[in-house]
Amino acid sequence: MNTQSTASSLLCIYCDGPGPFSDEHVISAGLGADDSRFLLVDMVCRRCNTDVFGNLEREVLRSSPIGFARAFMQPQGRDRGKRTTAPGIQAQYKQMANGSGYPDEIDFGPHAKPLVLPQLKITGEKTFDSSAVGPDELRSFITSLSTMLQNDQVTCIRKRGPEHELRYEAITLLRSGESYTQVGGSKLQAKPPQECLWLESYDQTRTKGMIPAATIFLNLNGSIVLKTSSTTVEDALHFFVRAVDQFSFDTQVTKDIEGPIVSVGLTVTIGVIERVIAKIGINLLAYYLGRDYVADFGFRKVKDGILTGTPSVGGQIVEDVSMKAMLDAAPNNHHVIFLSKVSQSGGRAAIILVAKLYGVAHIMCLARDVPEPHLPLPVFFLVDYVNHKVTQQSLIEYSECLAEMGITKAGAHYGSTK
Ligand SMILES: [Zn+2]
Repeated sequence: MNTQSTASSLLCIYCDGPGPFSDEHVISAGLGADDSRFLLVDMVCRRCNTDVFGNLEREVLRSSPIGFARAFMQPQGRDRGKRTTAPGIQAQYKQMANGSGYPDEIDFGPHAKPLVLPQLKITGEKTFDSSAVGPDELRSFITSLSTMLQNDQVTCIRKRGPEHELRYEAITLLRSGESYTQVGGSKLQAKPPQECLWLESYDQTRTKGMIPAATIFLNLNGSIVLKTSSTTVEDALHFFVRAVDQFSFDTQVTKDIEGPIVSVGLTVTIGVIERVIAKIGINLLAYYLGRDYVADFGFRKVKDGILTGTPSVGGQIVEDVSMKAMLDAAPNNHHVIFLSKVSQSGGRAAIILVAKLYGVAHIMCLARDVPEPHLPLPVFFLVDYVNHKVTQQSLIEYSECLAEMGITKAGAHYGSTK
C-alpha cells in the first residue's frame, strides 16, 4: 500500500479536513477485523473517526440485527487489550418468558446464551417472585440488595438522552423505617456516581404479556436496576425492603430452561447499518487504490451519506442465488467483502460493494461515473472474525477458495497464473 503524500495534500478522505489524523481500521475492528496490517494511516481525521464512526459502529455493533448476529457468532469483540470481551447486546429490554407469566430480565453471555439475571419481581400486593440462574447467584444478589437498602439514603440514577451523549439524572431518596421519600429535586450530571440504584421503566407499548409492578435485578456489570411500571420508585423500594427481610432461600429458582422464549427490543436508526458498510467500502478503496482515487468528486455523495446520513447510502440484501452461492464458498466464520466495477463509457466506471457479514450479504453502489480503477477489480477481502485476521484475495485466489469447496473443478487450473 502506498500512502505517501506531501504534507500539504494530507486531507481527511471523508471530510477533506486537515486532521489531526488517527489510525482507522480498514474493516471495523469490532466486526472481527482487529488486524493491524489493515489500517488506514493519516487518511481519516480523528473527528470523523471518533465522533462520527465511533458512534455509528457502537450502535451497529451493540444494538442492531448485526450486533445480535455478532453476539451469537463472534467470541471476542477485539483481538487484544483490555477491551477483549465477548460482544454484548444493548437493547431497550431483554426479557424471557417465565412460568409465572411475568417476564424475567435477562442478558446474554458468550455466544448470546440467555442468562436470567438475579431478580425480585412484585407480582401482587404482598407477593413477589425471584429468579436467577442458580441459588448462589440469588443469594449473593439478595445480600448486596439488603446492604444497599440498609443505607439511610439511596442515590437513584436514570439515563437521559441518546446513547452517544448520555446524561444522568440523579435523585436522592431518604429512608425512614421502611419508607422512602425523595429529598430535593433532580439534577443532571455527566457521570453517574460509583454507588447508585439505576432506574428504568417498563415500556408498556413495547412489552408483550403481563408486566410486574416493579422488578429489581442485578445486571451483568454488577449494577442494581429498579424497573417500574405501575408503582412509584418509593413504593417499590418500600416493598423490596420488606421482601428482602422475609426472603427465604428455599424459594424455587429458575435453572436450565429448555427452548427459552426470548424477547429483545432493539431500536435501530434507519440507515446506520448501510452507513457502516459503505464506510468499509470507501476504506477498502482507499486501502487498495489509494487516497487519490477516493478523492474523486464522484464519491462525495456516498461520503456525505456516511458522515451525516443524508443522502441515504442505499443498499439492499443480496437475494440472488448465484451470488449467494459464490459468497458461501468462503470458509466458516468469515465475512466476505468484495469490490467490483461496472465499466461505463469514456473510461469511467461504477463501483459496487458486496459485504457478507455474519451470513447476511448486503450490496450497494458506492459511486457512478468515477475513473476506471488502475488495479484489477473485483478484489476480495476475507475476515476471519474469530481470529481477527484479514486476507486480501484476487478473483483468481478467491476462485481457488471456490474450487476447494468443490464448487468448480476448473479452479485447479488457475494456480499457475497467480
Ligand atoms: Zn474527517
